[in-house]
Amino acid sequence: MFLTRLVYTSTVTDYFSPKDVESILTKARESNGKMSVTGMLCFHRKYFLQSLEGSRKNVNIIYHKILNDRRHDKITMLDYKEINVREFSDWSMAYVPESNLTKTANLMYSRTSEFKPYEMSGESAWKMMVTLKKSLPSI
Ligand code: FAD
Repeated sequence: MFLTRLVYTSTVTDYFSPKDVESILTKARESNGKMSVTGMLCFHRKYFLQSLEGSRKNVNIIYHKILNDRRHDKITMLDYKEINVREFSDWSMAYVPESNLTKTANLMYSRTSEFKPYEMSGESAWKMMVTLKKSLPSI
């Protein structure tokens, strides 16, 4: 089956605590690995930005689980498309913490130096993640 990529952003709720990031990543790496889904999760105090890539079926299964997670809401799909090549084949879920979401990275892909994913186009959000990938170790 062909490859797809989905990019969404969301806002943390009162059910979320920053220490949940570790368990979210553990769960994501375990489940995504089994389903050959790869991607990147960015977290910046209030917002998540995540990309998922894999078969259409598996990306949708995981996205539907994510949609039902009360630790975040205002889940907004920024981009969904068929792709030929994965960008994150080395990561079941790469993680970009707030410290890597620098003013320079934000200025490069958005109107301001702040991280405002709801104001980004799907393509800009995606390209920012591709740029951020260069600073990460493989997992
Ligand atoms: P269970 O683990 O049985 O959980 C049952 C329900 O409780 C689910 O609705 C779950 O969302 C919710 N829940 C689980 N833990 C907590 C908690 N500590 N506090 C409040 N509610 C909780 N999962 C993936 O498999 N791949 C991903 O890439 C992925 N990315 C995520 C990104 C974000 C920003 C968030 C918030 C979650 C992500 N998750 C991811 C986790 C996903 O939302 C589900 O929690 C997870 O897949 C487990 O689902 P489950 O059906 O096995 O339910």
